[in-house]
Amino acid sequence: MKYFIKTFGCQQNVSDSERISSAFRNRGLTPAKNYQDANYVIINTCMVRESAENRVYGLVNNLGKIKKQKQENNQLYKIVVTGCMVGIAFRDKSGDFLKKIRKSMPNADEFMPIEEVGFDLEPIRTEEKHAWVPISNGCNNFCTFCVVPFTRGREVSRPFMDILGECEELKKKGFTSVTLLGQNVNSYGSDLLLGEKNIQTVRDLDKTYFQKKDLALPRIKISYNIRGKKIEPVYVKHLGRYRIPTLFPYLLDSVAVLGFQKIDFFSSNPWDFSDELIEIIAKHQNISRTIHLPVQSGDNNVLKRMNRWYTQKEYVMIVEKMKKKIPGIKFTTDIIVGFCGETEKEFKNTVKLVERIGFEKAYLAMYSVRPMTAATKVMNDNVPHDVKKQRWEFLENLINKPNLRTPSKTN
Ligand code: SF4
Repeated sequence: MKYFIKTFGCQQNVSDSERISSAFRNRGLTPAKNYQDANYVIINTCMVRESAENRVYGLVNNLGKIKKQKQENNQLYKIVVTGCMVGIAFRDKSGDFLKKIRKSMPNADEFMPIEEVGFDLEPIRTEEKHAWVPISNGCNNFCTFCVVPFTRGREVSRPFMDILGECEELKKKGFTSVTLLGQNVNSYGSDLLLGEKNIQTVRDLDKTYFQKKDLALPRIKISYNIRGKKIEPVYVKHLGRYRIPTLFPYLLDSVAVLGFQKIDFFSSNPWDFSDELIEIIAKHQNISRTIHLPVQSGDNNVLKRMNRWYTQKEYVMIVEKMKKKIPGIKFTTDIIVGFCGETEKEFKNTVKLVERIGFEKAYLAMYSVRPMTAATKVMNDNVPHDVKKQRWEFLENLINKPNLRTPSKTN
């Protein structure tokens, strides 16, 4: 019996597929070269854009032909769909999304939530010297355009020592670089409660720190030790409560000292980019000097509508701080053009920000409606497609192909 995995979407999905591969090998299956050669095809899906979702429907539909041939020859052929589309289907209490995907993919035999694979399996690595290391899954930020909190659920951090143990093993096996992965790596640990000896996962930080009958602000009674450092909860304005601060600097510090040639992390959020994190990056030369810091928009009103908890000025301040402290630092970013109600003036503010920062590269997207998100529920996708396209092309030429820059209405 053979299996073949097709992965759509981000590095997190690539990393998940490495563990899916391990699960199928544990069941005694071997990898197939292609769809035709396989008995099980696993499709790890992405929902970040409508186009990614449509590609999955197209693929499963096409695989129906192979399935029919195989069945005519009495051969087993199962199509297993997993990843973000299944994540949202199992979280949608109405059951509508599950009905929709069942109807759109009648050839699929199984819809498998990625949580069934878990973090315990040793991944079958797809690269020889570089490894993806997931440190958390899900997100609590609920940016109004983003489907991730619905596809992957709330943020769950992996225990600190598990991550460190995996990295130590990788180093022993001769891996020279690692990328620490999460939807929002620098909020890593906000759901972890640290004990003196080990780390336990809890989901009730509010109960622990927020004493509602007291003053408007909670009292802090507890602090924790992690590898000799004292951690105290901090008040997080945009969450309206205390939580354990970014443990990511400690994790990054602990991984950096293991001696990898290069350590990357992906993806970061500007509002969790602490001074401590900047210090740790500055301290270790083996931490990448290219930081991916998604800005999404350079306009304060758009950022507010997106539920992004920073202003253009605050974003620039983080970047300037890092440029000052870390020689040679470069930035890449994510930008969405044509978000609900984005005016020409608001777009020009994004252009101004781009010109000020000088990004090395940007992952640009035209806004598209995503199920269950706040933008879909309460906002209007009212920027015409041709305007979105024109704005996308303008930024693409400005950031990713600066030599091709042509004058445009947006200038
Ligand atoms: S931080 Fe925002 S954009 Fe990133 S995964 Fe979370 S909700 Fe989505």
